[in-house]
Parts: sequence; C-alpha cells; structure tokens
Amino acid sequence: MKIYEALRWASSFLTEYGFQHQPIAEILLKHYLKIDRSKLFQMMQDELGEDVEQTFKEAIKQVSEGVPVQHITGFEDFYGRKFTVNEHVLIPRPETEELVLGLLQRIDKHFADQKRVSVVDVGTGSGAIAITLALENRKLDVTTVDISLAAINVAKQNAEKLSAPVRFCEGDLLSPVIDEKKTVDVVVSNPPYISEADFERLDANVRVHEPTLALVGGISGYELYERLVAQIPNVLKKKGIIAFEVGVGQSERVEALIKGEFPHANTEIVYDINGKDRMVFASMI
Ligand code: GLN
Repeated sequence: MKIYEALRWASSFLTEYGFQHQPIAEILLKHYLKIDRSKLFQMMQDELGEDVEQTFKEAIKQVSEGVPVQHITGFEDFYGRKFTVNEHVLIPRPETEELVLGLLQRIDKHFADQKRVSVVDVGTGSGAIAITLALENRKLDVTTVDISLAAINVAKQNAEKLSAPVRFCEGDLLSPVIDEKKTVDVVVSNPPYISEADFERLDANVRVHEPTLALVGGISGYELYERLVAQIPNVLKKKGIIAFEVGVGQSERVEALIKGEFPHANTEIVYDINGKDRMVFASMI
C-alpha cells in the first residue's frame, strides 16, 4: 500500500465512524515513519511497508473506537514542544497555549523591575503550563502542585526530557504551598471546570479516555475555582497575578469570585482565537 492509499483508506474508514479527522491519519503516519509533514507529501507515491501498514491500520481502528490519537503516539505538541501524555493527565489543549502566552506577556510587563518571579501552577497534569513558563522565561521559579501522583510522574518525565527547572508538590490545590508558608508572585491554573451535567454530554473519547479528575469541577463546574480563590490570599504576594483558564461562559462568575477576595484587583476577561471567553487574569496593584 502506498502512502496516499493509506491516507485515503484511513480517511474513508474514519468518516464511516463519524470522524472527519484526516489530520489524525497524517499525525500517525508522520509518527510511524518519523518524518515531518512536508516529507510525507513528498513520499505520497512510496510504499508504506508491511509493518508500518499493519501498525497504522491498527491505530486507525483504535481511533475509530474513540482512543485519542495522543494516547497512541504518546505525546501532544504544546507551545512548540512535545509533551508525553497518558490516561492520567489531560491532553494539553491549544486554548491553554493562549493562557500561557497571555500570562507570559503580563508577567513581562508587571514584573519588569523584578529579578526573579515565583509562580505556582495548580493542577499541573502533564506539566504543560509550568514547563512552558519555565522554559520561555528564565527568570521564573516555577512550582507545580497536583493531587494525582500519577500525573506528577508524567509531569516529572516531561520536565526531565525538556530540561525544565520545575519543582513538584503533591497535594490539594495550594495546600502544599500554604503548609510551607511560602508566598508567590503568580498563581496560574487550568483547573477541572466542567459541570457534572456537561460531563455526561462530552464526546466519548474525552469522557472515557481522559481523567475525570482533570475535567469535572463538581456539580456546578465552579467548585475548584471557589476553593482555590479562597486559598489564594494565603499565598499571593501583594503585587501578584492570578491567571485562570475557564470554560465557555464561566468568565464573569470566576471574575466575580476573584473580586470577592481581591476587591481592588485589575481583572480582565480574555477571549480565545475561537471568540470564546477562555481566560481570566487579575493583577494586584
Ligand atoms: N478544555 C477541556 C475540554 O474541553 C477541559 C479542561 C478543564 O476542565 N480544565 O475538554
């Protein structure tokens, strides 16, 4: 089977199962052949080889059954780097790259006269936010917290592979930082924010294959924001920044939660490239 035939086969196979994801076939072929996209297009007329063809078809079948392609390849791209992922961590989403970019820009401005800036990433999962921050801005001292030891192990692997200087704590939200009596300049989090009712409506591949712990924020979806915001006054320095990813339509209530604890904060709701309210930033003056 030639490469273009494999792509066609996969595309029609997946369409039959209701997937319109030809990109998935490309991701898998690039992965198995260890080539980039432009090379794949130059090789369209080449034979795939028996082994790769078998592995590829097996993988496409798994995808048709709802297995995320990132669980087959074992990684996801985030901010230009490859992060190892598995069933213990949320697969990093492109929306979260926007959170990281927005936070880096605000840190640059807000802490321009500061030599070091301490950051804690709450619910780090794969470590995508924390590791990217640490690598993109060398003046950041980044601590991560996660309640899941299995997730911390994935984040540790990623930090090691990418040589990111990041510290790991196991615990519930900010508790480990509070216990250490530490204060920080920045609190960032993409907490679980899906309500229990919305969780039932999620695509099966997300609902079944990604960790519920990383997705569901209690009955309302706001539970983690509520508990986290209540803890922040114990750790945030006077001139600090808060950066949250939020679910669509949640920004105003999350902004109000922050205002409840920090009435004088400058808060901003930021929309993602799809025009959805996705980030809430707060900076203390
Ligand atoms: N954005 C994720 C999704 O749509 C949810 C992430 C989260 O709960 N923090 O599946």
